[in-house]
Amino acid sequence: MFFRERSGDCRYRCGRKSLWKLLSMHHFAYKDGVLHAEDVSLPRLAADVGTPFYCYSTATLQRHYRVLAEAFQGQDAVICFAVKANSNQAVLATMARLGAGMDVVSEGELRRARAAGVPAERIIFAGVGKSREEMAYALSEGIFSFNVESAPELVALSEVAAGLGVTARAAIRVNPDVDAKTHAKISTGKSENKFGIPYLDAAALYAEARRLRGLEVSGIHMHIGSQITDLAPFRDAFRLMRDLTLELRGAGHEIRHLDIGGGLGVPYSDADEVPPHPDAYAGLVKETLGDLGVRIYLEPGRMIVGNAGILVTRVLYAKAGAGKRFTIVDAAMNDLIRPTLYDAYHEVWPVSEARAGAAPVLQDIVGPVCETGDYLALERALPPFEAEELMAVMTAGAYGAVMSSTYNTRPLVPEVLVNGGHYAVVRPRPSYDDLIGLDRLPPWLSRT
Ligand SMILES: *Cc1c(COP(=O)(O)O)cnc(C)c1O
Repeated sequence: MFFRERSGDCRYRCGRKSLWKLLSMHHFAYKDGVLHAEDVSLPRLAADVGTPFYCYSTATLQRHYRVLAEAFQGQDAVICFAVKANSNQAVLATMARLGAGMDVVSEGELRRARAAGVPAERIIFAGVGKSREEMAYALSEGIFSFNVESAPELVALSEVAAGLGVTARAAIRVNPDVDAKTHAKISTGKSENKFGIPYLDAAALYAEARRLRGLEVSGIHMHIGSQITDLAPFRDAFRLMRDLTLELRGAGHEIRHLDIGGGLGVPYSDADEVPPHPDAYAGLVKETLGDLGVRIYLEPGRMIVGNAGILVTRVLYAKAGAGKRFTIVDAAMNDLIRPTLYDAYHEVWPVSEARAGAAPVLQDIVGPVCETGDYLALERALPPFEAEELMAVMTAGAYGAVMSSTYNTRPLVPEVLVNGGHYAVVRPRPSYDDLIGLDRLPPWLSRT
């Protein structure tokens, strides 16, 4: 059992899974007995930057972007990396050098994308709650388009754009009410989710948009959820987009771009469903939308960065509980919240290859935070980890560092980017003084 878990190669060999070879491949592997990120040994990194830390692989980021870009070759398509999956400047700059656009959900993310060198005309601003200040800022930057999620937001965008004397390009996010068959907390395309407007209300809102000043509503947006491992919900959504495009054109609207969202899943373990291959996904886009003469915008996040990152942590204590072993490590739920928030499964690899062969013991990998929900892995057959050992929590590049907090006054963990034999700390660990210094005492509590 453990060998299956440990040998990342297994999934590349057998049957359908070989389809995934290009995309699920990453650059974390054992060399000379220890786990490496590309050509950099993790024990060396741990000695240099301390634990815990996130580590990203440039080669993996590049590979995933290129696999997707190649799948869409011959189609008029723009890949806008979903910044919320991983917003480190170094990751964004890596994507920007490859020609990626970006999908942002806040002014902060827009500023990050611009700071990383992404041209404004390749940026899309999404999200259910953009403030007027954020809209004005994005308009002043000259972004490509807004994805508008409600009638009142459309009115606000119209007022802000007209007030500035500019035209805001927009797509309306339509909720197709399809079940993406993913975890409830990352499903977005069901009618009970807060996202978008109901499909049946779309025609009326496009008509309304034409009466508003300062708007050019020439796109349609859908994003049905995340970690989707089946093409069927995408097919349903794309067909609805097609129908709506034709219907809106029939009513005199010019529809020039379709934003088909993100959501392609990645394999977190060998037992997972095999996500659609980018070629199959691109083929479906061509088949359902290819003849409409529209430009396609994609918003992948997890698929690009998910298995391009790991969280490296050190064992503090191994403790025998009643009938179960607890391995207490120095990373915690504040560093990687996915296990407790989404019931997410992350493989755990010992950094020492020799330890990977040890007889497995059932255990929970838990952190030091004072919460029962503070765990990274539950009920796993893993080597009997001992104090000081290093382990890697795999596939932690997406929705990892970006969702971290300083709960329990734990400083944000550093992020490291590896490129071949080189590495750089791309976000240093803040000091305790930095962290505590964010607070201010009111005058009546100051000592002076
Ligand atoms: C989160 C999100 C994405 C990215 O989703 P992934 O599953 O990471 O590909 C894309 N578009 C929108 C609107 C999102 O909210």
